[in-house]
Amino acid sequence: MDRVDTVVVGAGVVGLAIARALARAGHEVVILESEAHFGSGTSARNSEVIHAGIYYEEGSLKAELCVAGRELLYRYCEEHGVRHRRCGKLIVAADDTQIPALEKIRKRAIAAGVHDLHLVDAEAARAMEPALQCVAAMRSPSTGIIDSHGLMLAYLGDAEDAGAMLAKLSPLRRARVVTGGFHLEIGPEGATTELACRQLINSAGLDAPDLARRIEGLAAEHVPKAWYAKGNYFTLSGRCPFSQLIYPIPNEAGLGVHLTLDLAGQGKFGPDVEWVERPEYEVNPRRADGFYEEIRRYWPGLPDGALQPGYAGIRPKVVGPGQAAADFVFSGPQTHGVAGLVNLFGIESPGLTSSLAIAERVRALLVD
Ligand SMILES: Cc1cc2nc3c(=O)[nH]c(=O)nc-3n(C[C@H](O)[C@H](O)[C@H](O)COP(=O)(O)OP(=O)(O)OC[C@H]3O[C@@H](n4cnc5c(N)ncnc54)[C@H](O)[C@@H]3O)c2cc1C
Repeated sequence: MDRVDTVVVGAGVVGLAIARALARAGHEVVILESEAHFGSGTSARNSEVIHAGIYYEEGSLKAELCVAGRELLYRYCEEHGVRHRRCGKLIVAADDTQIPALEKIRKRAIAAGVHDLHLVDAEAARAMEPALQCVAAMRSPSTGIIDSHGLMLAYLGDAEDAGAMLAKLSPLRRARVVTGGFHLEIGPEGATTELACRQLINSAGLDAPDLARRIEGLAAEHVPKAWYAKGNYFTLSGRCPFSQLIYPIPNEAGLGVHLTLDLAGQGKFGPDVEWVERPEYEVNPRRADGFYEEIRRYWPGLPDGALQPGYAGIRPKVVGPGQAAADFVFSGPQTHGVAGLVNLFGIESPGLTSSLAIAERVRALLVD
């Protein structure tokens, strides 16, 4: 049986960042990807926003890794020529009753380590964004947008330069814990090949819990149930009148229907929250009605017929509807007792922003 030091399962933005960090730290790394292309899972179906870290619970991994990851990411993009823009974002109060919520957001952001939010009045907000209707807004100057595919390409390039190898069309079927590491079965059912490794990183995104259940020797109590929260996007046809991202006040379900931009200036709205039994990516055009209503609270000029069904992504959740939001889960040897194994669960937003910081965290878990 062939043997390598470290196998990273999943060539999404997080798996690639981890492979890069481990390869640069001197490990021999093979990345297994079940699809024909890297980065075609959730990493290709998100908002491409570099989050400032505003909404996360004080002391949570999401808060810590988003704030640290965002700065690492901006620096990385500058050094590696990855396209991005620090465009900023406005969180808007549509009426006076929402103004206290803005202050709450600012306090929470400070507790989470985000110190650059500032309140702007309606006039100042309209001076920045003439199409906007609001009574006040909170501006985040450190929010930005990024070419996520360019980022993944750069991570993969770094990892390969450090000796890592990407194996496409290579699903990990099952693994077994053995003395000194793992035996892996890879490839299409009925035609699998075997590989041995010392360290195994499960960064399989939506499939991470399922895959963890197929690791013989890992106790089932260390694998959470997978929940799927689909996020639908509608794209704006025609010119977008905004130059930065526009978010309403968050609600119980999520961040509300917000506007994000791509690097060409095209606008899209979403993602909303739709719990689904299993991953599927069709956008139901009938959901547009709810979008028009929510968007017109802050952009009354949104023309009829301007929204087109766009795409959808699925948030890999470890808790179900109605439960309190969960943190990222890094389940390493200290948690489950299997040396050399790290499972990543619930790596939803801000996973893209946090990718470099997540990679460092995983590297440290393995060293410990
Ligand atoms: C709607 C939405 C919007 C978001 N917006 C943002 C945002 O604006 N900013 C931000 O910071 N974050 C955002 N996120 C979060 C971000 O997209 C994710 O955290 C990130 O993409 C997760 O990357 P990943 O590598 O863990 O997963 P993935 O990209 O899903 O990669 C997992 C890979 O594993 C592969 N795989 C699965 N099983 C196997 C197997 N058995 N063997 C081999 N390969 C396997 C898959 O094919 C896939 O390529 C958003 C997420 C969603 C759903």
